[in-house]
Amino acid sequence: MSVSAYVGRFAPTPSGYLHFGSLMAALASYLDARAAGGRWLLRMEDLDPPREMPGAQEAIVRALEAYGFEWDGQMARQSERLDTYNAAIDKLWADGHVYACTCSRKQLEPFAGLYPGFCREAGRDVHDAAIRLRVPDRVYAFTDRVQGEFSQPLGREVGDFVIRRRDGLIAYQLAVVLDDAWQGVTHVVRGADLLDSTPRQLYLQELLGLPRPHYLHVPLIIQPDGHKLGKRYRSPPLEPAEATPMLLRALRALGQPTPKPLADALPREVLEWAIRHWDADRIPRCCTLAEAQLR
Ligand code: GLU
Ligand code: ZN
Repeated sequence: MSVSAYVGRFAPTPSGYLHFGSLMAALASYLDARAAGGRWLLRMEDLDPPREMPGAQEAIVRALEAYGFEWDGQMARQSERLDTYNAAIDKLWADGHVYACTCSRKQLEPFAGLYPGFCREAGRDVHDAAIRLRVPDRVYAFTDRVQGEFSQPLGREVGDFVIRRRDGLIAYQLAVVLDDAWQGVTHVVRGADLLDSTPRQLYLQELLGLPRPHYLHVPLIIQPDGHKLGKRYRSPPLEPAEATPMLLRALRALGQPTPKPLADALPREVLEWAIRHWDADRIPRCCTLAEAQLR
């Protein structure tokens, strides 16, 4: 029985299979939670059906099982929580924090992702429009357990961002803060590709009156060709048969020891050993890793 208040989670997006980078995030969040005597939850971030890969949800769950992970309770699915997200948008609307935007992609093209504010004061109708959040000209900052201080002038670098697309799809930034709060997540451990999403999430937490969890962003692995290891560059899916050697590689990439006898252990035994020896202070900040370490 756990008496720890720690709640961690792993929140994969089913746009593809799990790969080495997702294994590092899953493993770090799992070990950090279990080493603290905490709970570890699984949440499927299936907000974007057109970009979902058929069979990916099942494959992700099967891979996690084959790698020895055990989550607490039932897996949550974002696709089942759309009412909650839309209710939060209604509340933000009522409070004047969001507005409707009908700008086309083409109109916004010259502005390199920074919204020029065309609809900010236009009072457009909420129907058939994207919903944008008014972003203040303020710096949002936090201390990451691995990456250290991170701050972002939100208005200048991000600008008013979309929280619901015109076609009704809910943005990840909104769903993630609502779900982490709903599930009582106290510690977010995930890949460093989301480091610069965090200030947007801090702002949403503030607006919605949600608690701010602790953050730990694990380093991204840069491939020898300079590409990030991830879905975009098609790093190979995790093979169930490779569980032990892949877990050991991920542990090494997280700066954790991997004594020789573990090579013959079952995945679950590797995880048990790694929980007992987990030291988050050993996680490297930096993202390059000699190819040899990955082999
Ligand atoms: N679903 C996101 C992803 O797969 C992760 C979200 C999170 O951990 O905050 O990249
Ligand atoms: Zn607009």
